Amino acid sequence: MKTPAEWKALFESEAFAQQTCYYGPLGPEYSPAGTRLRLWAPTARQVMVNLYRRGDGGACIGSMPLEKGPQGVWSVYLPGDQHGRYYTFTVQTETGLRETGDPYARAAGVNGNRSMIVDFARIDPPGWEKDQRPVIPPERRSVWEVSVRDFSQDPASGIRPAWRGKFLAFTQQGTTLNSDGVHPTCMNYLRRLGVGYVQLMPIFDFGSVDESRPLTRQYNWGYDPTNYNVPEGSYSTDPLRGEVRLRECKQMIAALHAAGIGVVMDVVYNHMYRNENVLNNTTPYYFFRQNEDGSFSNGSGCGNEFASERPMARRYLIDSVLYWAQEYHIDGFRFDLMGLYDVDTMNELRAELDKLPGGRSILMYGEPWQGGGSALRRYEANKNNLSMLNERIGIFCDNTRDAIKGGCFNAREPGYVEGKPDSFWDVGGAVAAWCRSDRLPPHSPAQIVSYVSAHDNFTLWDKLLMVRYPHPEFTATDPAALAQNRLAAGIILTSMGLPFWQAGEEFARTKKGQGNSYRSSPALNRLDWKRAQQFHSLVDYYRGLIGLRATFPRLSSADRTAPEAIRFFSLEQPLVGWTLPALPGDGSWWRALCVFYNPTADTPAVPLPEGSWKLLSDGTSSSLWRGKSQILTGSVTLAPCSATVLGLI
Ligand code: CA
Repeated sequence: MKTPAEWKALFESEAFAQQTCYYGPLGPEYSPAGTRLRLWAPTARQVMVNLYRRGDGGACIGSMPLEKGPQGVWSVYLPGDQHGRYYTFTVQTETGLRETGDPYARAAGVNGNRSMIVDFARIDPPGWEKDQRPVIPPERRSVWEVSVRDFSQDPASGIRPAWRGKFLAFTQQGTTLNSDGVHPTCMNYLRRLGVGYVQLMPIFDFGSVDESRPLTRQYNWGYDPTNYNVPEGSYSTDPLRGEVRLRECKQMIAALHAAGIGVVMDVVYNHMYRNENVLNNTTPYYFFRQNEDGSFSNGSGCGNEFASERPMARRYLIDSVLYWAQEYHIDGFRFDLMGLYDVDTMNELRAELDKLPGGRSILMYGEPWQGGGSALRRYEANKNNLSMLNERIGIFCDNTRDAIKGGCFNAREPGYVEGKPDSFWDVGGAVAAWCRSDRLPPHSPAQIVSYVSAHDNFTLWDKLLMVRYPHPEFTATDPAALAQNRLAAGIILTSMGLPFWQAGEEFARTKKGQGNSYRSSPALNRLDWKRAQQFHSLVDYYRGLIGLRATFPRLSSADRTAPEAIRFFSLEQPLVGWTLPALPGDGSWWRALCVFYNPTADTPAVPLPEGSWKLLSDGTSSSLWRGKSQILTGSVTLAPCSATVLGLI
């Protein structure tokens, strides 16, 4: 019997790659006459398929062996219409016998334990064939990150009870706060806000929520994959019927698309929920990175990490992303712990996405870091290697995040908006998407995801209050923190790159100082729609800036020379001011933009460049640009703690 270190040596040998690399179909291939199953399991000695009528329980109604073909691919043909049939494989390897789901399963029973054969033509929602990715030009790109559960769990959301916390909540139109008919919630709210994309926290099948039990006392973000190519069951109205989650997930996507909103999927290939999983059960050790002694490397901090550099693992990741793009019409992918993948895998994936119809518009970005020490010995998809990544693969920019609001690990550490001295220089770096800084290797401005809040760490509101007060009252309305919040949003939404924020940042979302709520209560995590009404002027402020950003396309340019066209003014610290001419013919409403950030409590007057400048946003009203507004020449007075935006007419 081989030791783990011997498995590692085998899997990393050229001979093994030659004997086992396979690029034909895998998983179930359905037709009404019969279904062929194919499983890549080159180290298996025997593989059986077990058939079931149900997704769990009930007797096995038959088992039969798969036949081994070239390159380690096992297959079996099941005659007759197999739609709705559940199955597992029993895989015998040197390390033992395991009953497992199919890594290429596209549907599964409750908790994903049994795979399922489906005829998509029979389960797609009506009109799905007409669903298309919306065209979202760069200047309309912004990302609002939310979990399916949090979006509509609030009883005040106006969503019908059976759909709260589910995919279908996205399909309910016209919802208002406690159905008051006035204050929009959920999709009704999102349409008005104007974001380009909704980024959904994990919607693939994850393991930390028991789908067979009531959900009231269970909660998890879902960064613990069990089936990569199957939607999560607890977000469906019936996890016991495997086809329901597929249909309802598509209904959600179609509803977002119908509102002109793109869907970014948060994907977590970097690790799986448990070491016992569909990949490790079929080809033990192959899919997970190994230390020299053969044990699993733990760069994810979750017990295992995906070996993207091994050819069939790389293929698995790419196949899965392409599958979601093609079958579910996903508009973008956000890679959790992208620093655990090698650069080649990410670039190859980009090239494969680009080959799809409209594929070049599909977004790709990720976290350019790891969750711990990794055994990866290739170029990692991280910040240091940014120049090696395709320039349409972006990164979350912690430089921007920390410069604006302060470090996210020390709650009390201030940033620019909280008056940290000397941080004005970094704010200039953020505005130019770090293209004029030696902090990051050469890159396109569009590769920078500009943000000050995401699901991890404190909400922006909580962070602002924790810097200000030793004992914050998180639910209080605090005018000073609100001004800081507006300034932070003002910087993000006028910086080059892709603006991104956690859902509810625009209504002062609080988790009451909780820094990591991945398994906290549903009540702490859910969007509190009453707050959207309470802080409606902050919501309007974001809305105005999102619209304003779209009037000046050069801010969203991917052109590497665009940041060089920004001219920064010499102002008294910590004021930051800059101007950027429009590119002729780029559809801009203004000939140039002029922007000032003032984190102080003073009202300084600052000089304006030559010409007549229309006041577009003054720090509290961000929709001045829509109507008649002041025309200024010579100078402008900045409100305390504000971002001021002017356009050359
Ligand atoms: Ca699940």
